[in-house]
Amino acid sequence: MTVLIKNIKTLYGIREQENGAIRGKSLNSINTLNDAWLLIIDGIIADYGTMSNTDAWQNLSLTNLIDASGKLIIPCFVDSHTHIVFAKTRESEFVDRINGLTYEEIAANGGGILNSSAKLHLSSEDELFNTAWSRLKKCIKNGTGAIEIKSGYGLSVEDELKMLRVIKRLKTVSPIPIKATFLGAHAIPLIYKNNRAEYIHLICDEMLPLLAKEELADYCDVFCDSGFFTPEETDLILKKAKTFGLKPKIHANELGLTGGVQVGVLNEAISVDHLEHTSKIEHDILYNSNTMATMLPSTAFFLGIPYPDARAMINADLALCLASDYNPGSSPSGRMSFILSLACIRMKMTPTEALNAATINGAYALELENICGSITKGKLANLIMTQSAENIDLIPYNFGEDLIEHVFIKGEIFE
Ligand SMILES: [Zn+2]
Repeated sequence: MTVLIKNIKTLYGIREQENGAIRGKSLNSINTLNDAWLLIIDGIIADYGTMSNTDAWQNLSLTNLIDASGKLIIPCFVDSHTHIVFAKTRESEFVDRINGLTYEEIAANGGGILNSSAKLHLSSEDELFNTAWSRLKKCIKNGTGAIEIKSGYGLSVEDELKMLRVIKRLKTVSPIPIKATFLGAHAIPLIYKNNRAEYIHLICDEMLPLLAKEELADYCDVFCDSGFFTPEETDLILKKAKTFGLKPKIHANELGLTGGVQVGVLNEAISVDHLEHTSKIEHDILYNSNTMATMLPSTAFFLGIPYPDARAMINADLALCLASDYNPGSSPSGRMSFILSLACIRMKMTPTEALNAATINGAYALELENICGSITKGKLANLIMTQSAENIDLIPYNFGEDLIEHVFIKGEIFE
């Protein structure tokens, strides 16, 4: 199949070769081509150029010719942190918070993650698959071209495996790449409230061997924060996961300066995610590492907590990434264009910084940099075509409204 998109007003995110994730001030530049064409062969970006030289495709027989006059093409978003396998929405807790309860108070009353866990226990694998699959399709429709999905609402051997099998099934039907993360250490189940060590033993010695045997996960996550798992517990779990070939990607520094960044970097985490609370100490540690600093601004938006200090982290020359954290409790949306709006409006990132963080750096946060996240020959043609627009600044500017006209997955319009 040969697809040509011609007369593109501006093609954004061109990268000739991978030179590592984009760090610091470099986040504010992006390679573009005006009045461009893009050639896709069998779902892969084959070539691109300007309309002043069309020799490369003049004599090709095209399966599909798309005129993008006045429109922009950007790489699809890479959403490197989601929890889209869940049984039920949690709007009653949303109302509880409006009425004055904090996220921690709701969690302490058996709400929050434990509430999702109870509901997941009652759901069949088929039910979970069907609802997650429809959420995934909506994410793709909103421009996501690769995604990570976590377990973590099971919190028992059977239910964690059930979630991971759902993710494995999604991988078989999904048109976009999926990475699966095991998050058995999302919360301590009530029955282990007074025996944390027993639950950690269950994670390390029962869940990990079983999921590794079925090859159900790519990464291991721990919610390392106050009221959840300590850095010492996190270290224990990550080290054990590594023996099964699972690299760490962890929840860190959402609720305080709680040592998550330190234990993540110590274990060579692919990413440390959240980072609402960081200081120069965490910035220095991240600077001297290959760990991606992932920010999830819709959680801060939805919970009314402080946003990550993106400007300080850019000044510290860190590699930053943006993701949705799509989950029923603290970020019930996977719309990445809104994440860009929040990054710009509330974290003072420029639209270019936000786009780089949500595309190529997202790909690095999933070790998918060789197949997506930029306009590069040989990568998947997972692309967003905007409506008529002058430039990409309009994407975060038009918050809550989509400028997306079409999403191309492997060169085909996703319906
Ligand atoms: Zn999360």
